Amino acid sequence: MLEERLVGTNPLMETRRESHESINKQRRYLQIQEILSDYPNGLTAKEISVEMKKRGYAATDERNLSAPRLNELLKLGIVDCIGKKKCQYSGKSVGVFTLRHVCELCGQEIGDFNDNGIYEGKYCEECFKEAQESRL
Ligand SMILES: [Zn+2]
Repeated sequence: MLEERLVGTNPLMETRRESHESINKQRRYLQIQEILSDYPNGLTAKEISVEMKKRGYAATDERNLSAPRLNELLKLGIVDCIGKKKCQYSGKSVGVFTLRHVCELCGQEIGDFNDNGIYEGKYCEECFKEAQESRL
């Protein structure tokens, strides 16, 4: 039997709200990745939020805009926490995040060798060489 509906409510609201949440998360993930790609030395959650506001992605620069998303990106293996530093805003010791560079072909972590951009940060040294050789 059909569930009785309260007048003025939409039974689909809950799922709609959930999918909005997931779209918002995806959008934040992309914003964080874009910001971190501009700061290869890494940023703290607060610094990322400040950058989000600067770029017009958010109305405020609250740490919470990025901090929960950073934890999720950390679990997904997309970002790395490379150490800690003293936050210039709160004075607390906080994590510094960078993008994790993994090879698009084999998935192995790309080391520092690509800092000069020769490999465009896309492939590991072995895959890059293999691709070069197969093109000859
Ligand atoms: Zn590779």
